[in-house]
Amino acid sequence: MGLYPLFADLAGLPVLVVGGGRVAERKAAALLDAGAQVRVGAPQLSRALAQWAAAGHIEHLEGLFQSAWLDDVWLVIAATDDRSANEDVASQAGKRRIWANVVDDPQLSRFQVPAVIDRSPLTVAVSTAGAAPVLARRLREKLESELDPALGPLVALAQRHRPAIRRALPELPARRAFYDWLYEGPVLSLLRDAKSLQAEQTMLEVLEQGGKMPSVGSVVLVGAGPGDPGLLTLQALRVLNQADVILHDRLVSLQVLAMARRDAERIDVGKRIGDRHTRQDEIHRLLLKHVRAGRRVVRLKGGDPFVFGRGGEEMAFLRQHGIVCEVVPGITAAVACAAYAGVPLTHREHVQSVRLLTAHGSESLGSLDWAMLAYERETLAIYMGVAQLDTLTTRLIAHGRSPQTPFALIENGTRPQQRVLSGVLGDLPALARQHAMGAPALLIIGSVAAMACDHGWFGELLPVRPPP
Ligand code: SAH
Repeated sequence: MGLYPLFADLAGLPVLVVGGGRVAERKAAALLDAGAQVRVGAPQLSRALAQWAAAGHIEHLEGLFQSAWLDDVWLVIAATDDRSANEDVASQAGKRRIWANVVDDPQLSRFQVPAVIDRSPLTVAVSTAGAAPVLARRLREKLESELDPALGPLVALAQRHRPAIRRALPELPARRAFYDWLYEGPVLSLLRDAKSLQAEQTMLEVLEQGGKMPSVGSVVLVGAGPGDPGLLTLQALRVLNQADVILHDRLVSLQVLAMARRDAERIDVGKRIGDRHTRQDEIHRLLLKHVRAGRRVVRLKGGDPFVFGRGGEEMAFLRQHGIVCEVVPGITAAVACAAYAGVPLTHREHVQSVRLLTAHGSESLGSLDWAMLAYERETLAIYMGVAQLDTLTTRLIAHGRSPQTPFALIENGTRPQQRVLSGVLGDLPALARQHAMGAPALLIIGSVAAMACDHGWFGELLPVRPPP
């Protein structure tokens, strides 16, 4: 290891920033956050720096760098755009044994300032010894998204009660188990939901009982989005990283599953058409079994759990058994497929409303209000409709929707094998047969669907020949 990492306590200590521009501004801000007494030396200050000086947050040393500025400072950051000035700062500082950093110049620097992920009091610092600052920044972004924002308050809580924790759990193994529970269990969830009093109480109760932890079982209904793993939310990713068991649907893509905690048990509960009801009962049974065994269960569904995802039923079932589940929304197929096909679902000039509906089996087709669906100035986004295209088309037209209404049928939306078929309603069943369109596919009907032809940007846009 070339560099020796350290976290410096600068509270109350004078430090110097040479330079008065944007970079100096950033450095001064970070030093102020650390409680340092910041002096900024430059002929002129940026607007923000000038305001801080006027407000007394920093001291302005006016003019070009002079060695006297280094008197009694503990460290210095040179942030001018003049290399020889920076060099001068570095060499004068070196003579006086003052730590110096020259921004973006590892050769002239005695110390490096890392990229930081701030979950104070938890701080993660990333350094490439100045060799690849861009890489360090990218890593920081990645870690930023993976580290729960609630970790900061959690560590603060643990810090506040450290003596009490030691007293209650003098043995190391017990203390270790307690910290494991603290960092992964209900206290973290409570803090994430901004319930800090409850979080503290939960922790103290466990301490009072000599570290006997209540079961950590939990269920989160999570929307996995339509397939492209980039469309997963950060919250979904976090929950997947903490899961013990993942009960997932067939529709959830392999790439999304690959992002979950490696040693989580994955159970495919994909429903098969035909035995729908027994399947749902079986899912309920599994949910209950695993959560009662104290495991963190993620119920992972394609798209959004509350859009044709039976999330409502599962939530109600769990509630009947005294279990409150959390819900992480996902990007639903209509929204995702529309975006990836270049079809805006609403458009100021054409349509002011969108209707999401399912055409799953004759049962649900029978219960639809067809007169309403024939209304021209509304976009229809139809889920689970590929098997019903004939009935769907005939009924819409019979109720007055024009056979010339544009449609876009998006198969495997957002996945590498996405195909988009676009044409007019009258030709829909024949065209879909011609191209052997299969599930999962989402059907968009309405004037906006025509935009798929000009604005599609992802996957394959199928050539449309007039149907035979
Ligand atoms: N909860 C899901 C919908 C489940 S119903 C959501 O919010 O998206 C299953 C139907 O969703 C499929 O039959 C299909 O119509 C649609 N669907 C889901 N993912 C899709 C995808 N990647 N491309 C096209 N349609 C999709």
